[in-house]
Amino acid sequence: MRQLASIQKIKHLEAIENAEAIERATVLGWQLVVKKGEFQVGEMCVYVEIDAILPDKPEFEFLRPRNFRIRTIRLRGQISQGICFPLSILPEGTAVEEGADVTDLLGITKYEPPMPAQLAGVAKGLFPSFIPKTDETRVQVLEGLLEQYAGTTCFVTEKLDGSSATFYWKDGVFGVCSRNLELIESADNSYWEFARQRNLPEKMAQLGKNMAIQGEIVGEGIQKNKYKLRGVTVFFFNAFDIDAYRYLDFEDFLDTMVTLELETVPVLDQEFVLNPDIPALVEYAVGRSVFNTDAHREGVVIRPLREQTGHKLGRVSFKAINPEFLLKYEDS
Ligand code: ATP
Ligand code: MN
Repeated sequence: MRQLASIQKIKHLEAIENAEAIERATVLGWQLVVKKGEFQVGEMCVYVEIDAILPDKPEFEFLRPRNFRIRTIRLRGQISQGICFPLSILPEGTAVEEGADVTDLLGITKYEPPMPAQLAGVAKGLFPSFIPKTDETRVQVLEGLLEQYAGTTCFVTEKLDGSSATFYWKDGVFGVCSRNLELIESADNSYWEFARQRNLPEKMAQLGKNMAIQGEIVGEGIQKNKYKLRGVTVFFFNAFDIDAYRYLDFEDFLDTMVTLELETVPVLDQEFVLNPDIPALVEYAVGRSVFNTDAHREGVVIRPLREQTGHKLGRVSFKAINPEFLLKYEDS
């Protein structure tokens, strides 16, 4: 779960070229614009991340034109992600502890993009408990956790902006799931249509293993089809061995995709040596989509070639989102 609002320290303050009244603050791995003089280095503040929706209260009135949602913005050429408030916005008596989550305390909720009807489907049940849901941690919150993986050889894929898809074969049963639900088979559901078109039930049965595969469904009617693709397709990024409760390593994942005759998300690099410099990783995420060079890519997902788990991190895998993508598309 993301901490959308937490108590954090102002790590750095730097001048912004040609800007008198504002400066650039660093909080966690995020960079944002603050009023000059409002905070001092080392001071605690309430940091609120992008995608947070603040409650309709007088102190947040200035956010009404933005529907109370915190977005990525650019001020005087400086990209700004998130917002810092003084501790005084907290209810009286709140303990000031660095890292404390104050999301619920402030009545903050998360913006979720609406799910198109062709994907929504009819729920068969909750997401199966024997498969992890798809999710990626943002690089900006990995400060202090990435250092131990410095030098690890990783592969980098393009992060596609669609909707999460999971297909599984377990003990003779084939299943289809959206991000959070398992879906009943129906004629007009895009996930099931893809599964039938590609003969996934038969092909997954032939693997001879209880397995889940996960990818991003993209194309016509989904997230404004930014890549201008024809039809609807799934591009895969995970193969999960259900009985071993383990993701396949990159090579084995690729082999599985070949066997199943499925496409992977675009692989941008297979020899990426991890340098735990967060602003540099965000800069690296900037670029165009492999599918359409007119479109900003949403970002990149970085993982070790050999799966790793960290005790604080869980699966070692994270995303760096392209700020240019957020600037362009977040205002919808
Ligand atoms: P957040 O938790 O940051 O608020 P979110 O949970 O809605 O956001 P996303 O920003 O969409 O998640 O990022 C995670 C999702 O990205 C995964 O669930 C997966 O569906 C999708 N995804 C798209 N492309 C890839 C890729 N190349 N590798 C891994 N996941 C990908
Ligand atoms: Mn998430």
